[in-house]
Amino acid sequence: MTDDAPFASILRPELAPLAAYVPHSGHFDVRLDANEAPDLLSERARRRIGEELAKTVWSRYPDARYGALRSALAEASDAEPEEILAGVGSDELIAMLVTALDRGRGGAPPTLLTTTPTFVMYRMSAVCRGMRVLEVPLDGSWDLDESGMRRALDFGQPSVVFIATPNNPTGNLMSEDRLVRVIEAAKDALVIVDEAYVAYAPRHQLELRRRFPNVAILRTLSKVGFAALRLGWMVGPRALVTEVDKIRLPYNLSVPTQVVGTLALRELRDEVDQAVALVVSERRRVADAVRALGLDVPESHANFLWIGTRRPAGEVYDALAARSVLVRSFHPRGGRLATRLRVTLGTAAENDRFLEAMAACS
Ligand code: PMP
Repeated sequence: MTDDAPFASILRPELAPLAAYVPHSGHFDVRLDANEAPDLLSERARRRIGEELAKTVWSRYPDARYGALRSALAEASDAEPEEILAGVGSDELIAMLVTALDRGRGGAPPTLLTTTPTFVMYRMSAVCRGMRVLEVPLDGSWDLDESGMRRALDFGQPSVVFIATPNNPTGNLMSEDRLVRVIEAAKDALVIVDEAYVAYAPRHQLELRRRFPNVAILRTLSKVGFAALRLGWMVGPRALVTEVDKIRLPYNLSVPTQVVGTLALRELRDEVDQAVALVVSERRRVADAVRALGLDVPESHANFLWIGTRRPAGEVYDALAARSVLVRSFHPRGGRLATRLRVTLGTAAENDRFLEAMAACS
């Protein structure tokens, strides 16, 4: 072992160039950087959560099969409990799925195909397991490039395809017909349709898993007011759920996660729906106001906007941060991301603070 890389001979070489996930620390009056929902939970809801948690038997492990929660997730996803696999955020489902993959053709590492830009954890989870990653750029409207995806399917023979729709960070739903044709062309792969932001979209795509035996859907409570819980789930074929469940760590879902998750999906459903409705109406208002500044804002089907900047995005990001408004910039990745900011929609007051700051520094 050497002093500068003491575990280099033991650890996967893929880890060395990666960086651990660290969200921005430091204080900002307005945080619109992580696609969380605004904090709108009522006092009554908080009391109910407190009452339910007060019943917890803290000395015992949670229900390993998370029966009540699984029923609630199944009901919310038009599925049977056996078609549900839950995890510590959908991040954990992504990790479990890629861990389950066998080697590809000729013993090569398995290949993951996705789009770019998209949610980084598909790539991260695959790369740190030694997998090969193919990323097909979205087209000029941030939609699926069907022919590019087809070529990548032919050339790369991926084991798994991840498509987020609505996509992060671009906010748009992928065209239904393109998505269907890509799935049809991906017959030999598992296709994961990530619906993390579906609550904010005009349509969902759950029917795809009934039409295609190789499709599974990912969902999460993180974007609708319960990011603190860390609860995500997959809705997929029973055979896939059974196999990937073998990778799940025992008791991955804590008692608070199971109890509050079940409450959020059932009793507090109306509150979740109201918060979503507020964000959707704010989305229209904020998008119009940013367009009035002369900036490009494509239609969003998510709880954030994908804003084109005139100046380099890094400069606008810094100027907003100096006004205590934190947003998300991908400018270090260059290209067409160098003039884009992703801005989560907050409460009306938070959005006003953002608009004021944006008018001053765009
Ligand atoms: N999928 C997408 C598209 C996301 O944007 C995110 C969060 N940024 C996730 C999955 C992960 O969400 P969580 O782990 O909080 O459920």
